[in-house]
Amino acid sequence: MVGLPPSVVRTRLRFAALAAVLCSMTAARAQYPGAEQPPASIKTGWDSIGKDDIKKWMAYLAGPECAGRGTGQPGFQKAAEYMAARFKEFGLKSANPDGSYFQGVPFTRTAVVPSESYVELVGTSLKITAGKRLAFTGASGDAEAEAGVVFVDANGDAELNDPKVIEDKIVVFMGAQPSRRLRSQVTGAGARMIRVVDSVPESPGAIRRKSANAPPNNPGRTLSTVVISREAAQELAKACKADLAQLVATGEEASARAVTGEGTLKLVAKVKTEDIMVPNVVAMIEGSDPVLKDDVVGLGAHLDHLGESNGQIYWGADDDASGNCSLLAIAQAMAKNPEKPKRTVLFMAFCGEEMGLIGSAHYANNPIFPLDKMTCLLQMDMVGRNEQTQNEKAEDNVDTIHLVGSKRLSMELHQAVLDANKYVNFKFEWDEEDVYTRSDHYNFAAKGVPIAFVFSGFHPDYHQPTDTPDKINFDKIVSTARLFYATALDAANRPAKFKKDPPPTGGG
Ligand SMILES: [Zn+2]
Repeated sequence: MVGLPPSVVRTRLRFAALAAVLCSMTAARAQYPGAEQPPASIKTGWDSIGKDDIKKWMAYLAGPECAGRGTGQPGFQKAAEYMAARFKEFGLKSANPDGSYFQGVPFTRTAVVPSESYVELVGTSLKITAGKRLAFTGASGDAEAEAGVVFVDANGDAELNDPKVIEDKIVVFMGAQPSRRLRSQVTGAGARMIRVVDSVPESPGAIRRKSANAPPNNPGRTLSTVVISREAAQELAKACKADLAQLVATGEEASARAVTGEGTLKLVAKVKTEDIMVPNVVAMIEGSDPVLKDDVVGLGAHLDHLGESNGQIYWGADDDASGNCSLLAIAQAMAKNPEKPKRTVLFMAFCGEEMGLIGSAHYANNPIFPLDKMTCLLQMDMVGRNEQTQNEKAEDNVDTIHLVGSKRLSMELHQAVLDANKYVNFKFEWDEEDVYTRSDHYNFAAKGVPIAFVFSGFHPDYHQPTDTPDKINFDKIVSTARLFYATALDAANRPAKFKKDPPPTGGG
């Protein structure tokens, strides 16, 4: 009954049977109508899971400080530090042997060295170095180019009447985005291009999984992603005496316009590739039973999202700040509940998920606790929205969530989730089994760890800058946290680990 406005409650009451009314009134803290009361042994923790904390955490993780939590970007590091600070505040221990809450995952960053990357008008004092007025947004290897300069405005979607004027030149596009046709004219003429943008994006460089075979340097790519501020381009035009007023189309003319500048332009990019570490956040509640504490119950969410890209922030409120809020709520609930888990419970907030499940792959290949001691991994990825697709309306999905993958490795685990759901009463949906490989749990499942994955479904803001906290259904995050809080405690306290089912035979 949490979160329903009074008018909805009144309507419900009018139609409900008396028994149901009494039931829903006594079960005031149960999440959805018809849910049973959780047992007294887990009640203190259960009741601690609420919207106020979750809203506060969401505001930070999906807010300006974390700027979309791009792996390798400063916002991700802030998010990781925030998660670690909350785990510490709740009294959780570090799960890492070095005593920190971070498990470092190796990446490489390829970016220009700003002080050594620039554009200059040869023989003059005009030199613009990389930074706020100039950027190489796709730097991939050292590059240099020297040529005459032509300023071009596409005047909408038009092409140049005479592409010869840009042959082997450096073209500065003064208009909006150059059209595809104009760009292919530039390429055809062997010219380089610099695009004018309203705000030069901060360029964190290309972050990649560290691997033995790094991608080859591509100077051509470095030089095809140069952007410059409008003000800097105007300064450049002035220095090479190009009259930009001539770019303004007159009358009905439909062609792109070009103005050639005096002198030679030199573009230099110095690119550095460096090894960096990006953390998975790992914290634990040590099991209270001297024997069972060697077994581990895993809970996971991915902390990263798409970060800042081309001057836009992808906030990732649902994907997957929602899962991390749920992770924190469960950690706090277990820490507050007087009865402690017998097995160790491990909380993991992974990096690099959006880049291909990199942080969880690193954990699965370098587990802090042996994977055969992990009785299950419960993953939460996108648990804060009401599914909205061509076939399903958001308002019909207020209390639905997809339970994915739980039947694949252990029916005992699957049943444990169903049992825990008696206290929540989510309407489980089963039509998203094809996302089984698309979140962190898959790296554990591939190594035989039984998994259960909850996912509230796709919506039009998926992987868009519009995935923001104001669209979140916070009751759903509360419900998700309660579901996996109860499941994890059951997993931690039952006499034996979840039995793994034999792999299916035959059939194909
Ligand atoms: Zn995603």
